[in-house]
This record gives sequence, structure tokens and C-alpha cells, in this order.
Amino acid sequence: AFDTLMIGGGPAGAAAAVYAARKGIRTGVAAERFGGQVLDTLSIENLISVPHTEGPKLAAALEEHVKEYDVDIMNLQRAVALVPGESGGEHEVRFESGASLKSRTLVLATGARWRAMNVPGEAEYRNKGVAYCPHCDGPLFKGKRVAVIGGGNSGVEAAIDLAGIVGEVTLIEFMDELRADEVLQKKLASLPNVEVIKGARTTEVNGDGSRVTGLTYEERASGEMRELALEGVFVQIGLVPNTEWLKDSPIELSERGEIVVDARGMTSVPGIFAAGDVTTVPYKQIVIAMGEGSKAALGAFDHLIRS
Ligand code: FAD
Repeated sequence: AFDTLMIGGGPAGAAAAVYAARKGIRTGVAAERFGGQVLDTLSIENLISVPHTEGPKLAAALEEHVKEYDVDIMNLQRAVALVPGESGGEHEVRFESGASLKSRTLVLATGARWRAMNVPGEAEYRNKGVAYCPHCDGPLFKGKRVAVIGGGNSGVEAAIDLAGIVGEVTLIEFMDELRADEVLQKKLASLPNVEVIKGARTTEVNGDGSRVTGLTYEERASGEMRELALEGVFVQIGLVPNTEWLKDSPIELSERGEIVVDARGMTSVPGIFAAGDVTTVPYKQIVIAMGEGSKAALGAFDHLIRS
């Protein structure tokens, strides 16, 4: 059994493992895919003190750093259920493989995934014009034309954010009205380089084989197909936390399915902590996930020395 076990091996889980192992406690990491979302990222320019790196390089560095310590890494293990220990006992995590692991404390760091449009060209041009994170990739489109797909809060925030960096922004909303907060919509309407197209269904991301060159959408009222010429498409139709496996557990989740944590990263179940994109902590970023993972591991250690 472990003193602390991380579920998830992205920036949050890796940071938690380093912090826990440095306390000399029995530490393990079980992850479906060590590296997490970082593996799907091309260039990273906002990991402070590292002006430029690439996803696979950072993922390898995360693993290398964790391996500096006595940590059991169990890769390709998908957690399917969590059974909290009774009255301070060990918590159990069950995996798809049939295996199960026990630990006195847990750090849940299973991350999140961006909802995709699932239209032709989207996957093909991912990182070649198709992007999901304005904080990350906005500056790559300086002075260019981009579309933002989705008129909820995240889409409208992204459009406002991008309007200050890129040349022109076209926001495309499927419904006939934007769903974002009124104050955001007002701000959006005040910007000179933003156009909003409502009642439009994006049907394809177009490209020249190496980069995005535009997109095609259907004007839903008329059924007519239209094309926009542009260099970038930011998809903002939702970030889904990977918490399906916790549905039958007593861990409190928010309305959006994120794990609710306190200032030390502890969940509603004592001894079970969570960190990174899977939690209610806002702004899903690598440097934030690393900080939150470190914090959750320290929280878990604190919990251990008090129980
Ligand atoms: P994740 O990275 O999502 O890791 C989750 C881990 O949990 C993985 O190991 C996964 O396999 C595992 N897991 C999931 N479910 C289970 C399960 N049931 N059982 C076991 N393991 C499970 N951020 C930046 O700061 N800068 C950028 O430039 C940047 N660019 C990005 C580009 C793209 C294309 C994407 C998708 C994201 C980008 N981000 C960027 C966001 C950043 O990647 C995330 O904020 C960060 O990876 C979150 O770390 P995490 O550890 O919380 O979760």
C-alpha cells in the first residue's frame, strides 16, 4: 500500500509525485497516459522560466523528474472506481485492468479534455491552425484572422481576449443567441475587429494540406453553405473534466462535474485531494496544474502526519 497515490500523470500528478516523494513517503502514480494533455501540445511558451518547449519534450521531462525519486509509476492504467476507506482507513482505486491499489491518501489529477466539433479537418489541422486554448496559442496568430467557435462564456471571453492580439475575430454560434453573460456580450459588441455570426453550424475546417486556410459553415435558417477565409480556428465548446469514474463515489463534484477542493486541495472526503484541470480551480494551465499538484501533495503529507 502507498502513503500517497496520484491518479493521473499530467503536470498536476507529476508535480504531486515529486513533492510527495521528497517527503520520503511511499509514493505512486497511476495514469492512463503519463504526460496527459501535454502530449497533444505542439509548442509551449508560457511555462515560466522555459521560454519555449514542445509537448512531448515536456512530458519526457516530467517523467524524468519523477524518476529521480523512488516513485512507482504505473502507466496505461485507467481508474474506473474509487472506494474511500472507512473511518480513516486506506482508500482503494480500481482499474480497468482488474488491478486495484490502496493508499492512505490520494491525489486525483485526471485532468480534462476539450470538447471537439468532430468535423472534417479539425483533427487534421490540430496545432496547424486549429487551437483550443487562447492563453496558450493566441500570440501565434498575431495580426491574423481567426474564428472562435462557441458563444458561451468561454467562447466570448476567448473572442475578447483574441481581439486584442489578432487582426480579425469571427465568433460563430450555433444557436440564434449567444449564451455568454450580458457584460461579456456588451464588451464583445464594443470591439471594432469582432464579427458575430449566429445560427451557424460549422461543417468543415479547410486547409492547404499543411495549414488552416478557412472554414465552411451552414447558415441554419437558409441551409446555405458559406466559407470564411482565415488562418486560425479556436474551438470553445466546452472543457470536460475526466470525472466519469467518480460518479458513484462520495467525492463532491460541481455542476460541471469538476472536483470541489478547498484551499489545500482537499476534496469533500478527508485524505483525498485533487489538483489540476479536473478541479474547480479556474484557468486550466500547465503552470497552474503544477502549482496545484504540489499544493495537494503537501496537503496530503500534512494530513498523514496528523492522522
Ligand atoms: P492532464 O494533462 O489532462 O493529465 C491528466 C492525466 O490523468 C493524464 O495522465 C491522463 O492519462 C490521466 N487520466 C485521465 N483519466 C484517467 C483515469 N480514469 N484513470 C487514470 N488516469 C487518468 N497549457 C499551458 O499552460 N500552455 C500551453 O501552451 C498549453 N497548450 C495546450 C494545447 C493543447 C492542444 C491542450 C489540449 C492543452 C494545452 N494546455 C496548455 C493546457 C494544459 O495542457 C493543461 O492545463 C494541463 O495539462 C493540465 O494538467 P493536469 O495534470 O491537470 O491534467
